[in-house]
Amino acid sequence: MPLVILLAIVVLAVMFWRYRTVRLTRNCRWRENRAAGEWRCAYCGAVTRTANGGPPVICLQENG
Ligand SMILES: [Zn+2]
Repeated sequence: MPLVILLAIVVLAVMFWRYRTVRLTRNCRWRENRAAGEWRCAYCGAVTRTANGGPPVICLQENG
């Protein structure tokens, strides 16, 4: 039944998307510090740098 397989793929994709979205947005508010070339998370205080200069995509201190 191709329809069942298609439905399963859609459900898994939605679950994966929701999981990623929750992970990426929860507790993290990255602010750029141009002078230092760093990104600081306003929520947990983590400081990091990224290779491409863009904001980090994860919270570094999820359990903090
Ligand atoms: Zn954070």
